[in-house]
Amino acid sequence: MNIRCRKINCKFNHAGTCHAREVWVCRGAICETYQKDEEKTDLELASELAPTMPNNVPLRCTAATCLYNRDCRCGANGISVIDDEIKNQADCATFIER
Ligand code: SF4
Repeated sequence: MNIRCRKINCKFNHAGTCHAREVWVCRGAICETYQKDEEKTDLELASELAPTMPNNVPLRCTAATCLYNRDCRCGANGISVIDDEIKNQADCATFIER
């Protein structure tokens, strides 16, 4: 699964793409794999502007009310994850309620 992600302070985020070994999106369409990287600096945040590389991350998703979800598998071509700074979480923006 190609995952573009705006949660730049996640340890798995490189230039706006996810490079985790596996991503788990929970029932509330929140990325549970997110881990804040306390070491990331503003300089690394600037890497967000670098060209993105295609990735292929295994995705497990239990958001059963999503249009794309079939038996805990995501049927979208790729997903976008956005930064919810207020709740300090990473939300799946591709989620569409059935
Ligand atoms: S927040 Fe989730 S989707 Fe984004 S880089 Fe981290 S693990 Fe990947």
